[in-house]
Amino acid sequence: MKIRSIEARPILDSRGLWTIEVALTLANGVRAVASVPQGKSTGSSEAVALPADAAARAVNRIIAKSTSGKTFASQAAFDARLIALDGTPDKSKLGANAVLAASIAFLRASSVARHRQLWREIWSELSDSNSAVHPALQPRRPHLRLFMNMVNGGLHAGNNLRFQEYLAIPKTDSIRNAIDIGTRLYRELGDELARRRGPGARNIGDEGGYAPDFADDLEPFRIMRAAVRRLKLGAAFDYGLDAAATDIRTPEQKIGGRDVIVRQYESLTRTSDFIYLEDPFDENAFDRFAEFASRIRLRRPSGRPLWISGDDLTTTNVGRMERAYAAGSVNAVIIKPNQIGSVTEALDAVRAARRYGWGVIVSHRSGETNDDFIADFAWGVGADGLKLGAPARGERIAKYNRLLEIAAA
Ligand code: PEP
Ligand code: MG
Repeated sequence: MKIRSIEARPILDSRGLWTIEVALTLANGVRAVASVPQGKSTGSSEAVALPADAAARAVNRIIAKSTSGKTFASQAAFDARLIALDGTPDKSKLGANAVLAASIAFLRASSVARHRQLWREIWSELSDSNSAVHPALQPRRPHLRLFMNMVNGGLHAGNNLRFQEYLAIPKTDSIRNAIDIGTRLYRELGDELARRRGPGARNIGDEGGYAPDFADDLEPFRIMRAAVRRLKLGAAFDYGLDAAATDIRTPEQKIGGRDVIVRQYESLTRTSDFIYLEDPFDENAFDRFAEFASRIRLRRPSGRPLWISGDDLTTTNVGRMERAYAAGSVNAVIIKPNQIGSVTEALDAVRAARRYGWGVIVSHRSGETNDDFIADFAWGVGADGLKLGAPARGERIAKYNRLLEIAAA
């Protein structure tokens, strides 16, 4: 793939904050555009995004100068050039946003030039072999499951919930059915909240989930289950929580010498349809995660899996993932390409997770653009789960609609 030009400019994300968009043109005239998201409850070990103007300058001056007119044999070769140009461990010279936008634009241009779906390009990068059978086509592997955000709290909302994301996880293997029942639940939950709290309870947070005040941190699950019962959808959903504990601002309370928060996790994980708990403790509490993970496994109803997942803990960084593996902190991991800054490094993190036998949950960020790359990425790596927020707000809907397109093909 020979590059003719690469150009960046600032655009807005879903919070009205500046991020960047990169347009890359190949010598054969193929042009691809990519933009990158930004988080709010970011882990402190994430790669560093520069202010959008500085990131755009890094693309237009440094990256353009070193890649225009050059040929790159693979995504790995292109990303290696970007990583070398940056030369820092956290992408703080060029900006992880500059590097990732360029990396995705190159991947997208390659896929167009090869007349292949973007997710196929990702799968072949990951598997290093075009003959490997994609997980979606393998009979026995579970398909991608949707972790659909229903209620927002923490830094993503102005309400009183300490936890950040209340997730409903449709049990069906079909993306179309999952989106269908997930959106029915989302609408019914809005009606249920409006009946109980008035129409203002339908107001939504950064990821499109409802964001009223609640009686306590676990009430959203009780109301969600009531909405499921009303829909007569019985056992159609599993449930999950991203506590985003690093950003909980209220000091830890104890009752009877035990942490309230741990009691809340214990009560949630007692039911067999609660299958996912992300960032239950501080981003550096590797041992606390491990102690909780080993204890909770013994209390679990038999035969039901529980994913204890790292996000701010692991930050898509293979060094931190290795540390979590050695400590026994998690059995699943969030993969966010912009936490590490290039497609190749995000794929390295997926490979490491698979080596460790962990669940792989790919995720959007709370500040998104309309770029739907993350849907292709999740499908392409054969992820176990995908977090896309609620089925609301154009920047989230863009990804749900891209998934429908992929699954229908
Ligand atoms: C998350 O914590 O999983 C998340 C998506 O939030 P943010 O993008 O704000 O880090
Ligand atoms: Mg998280």
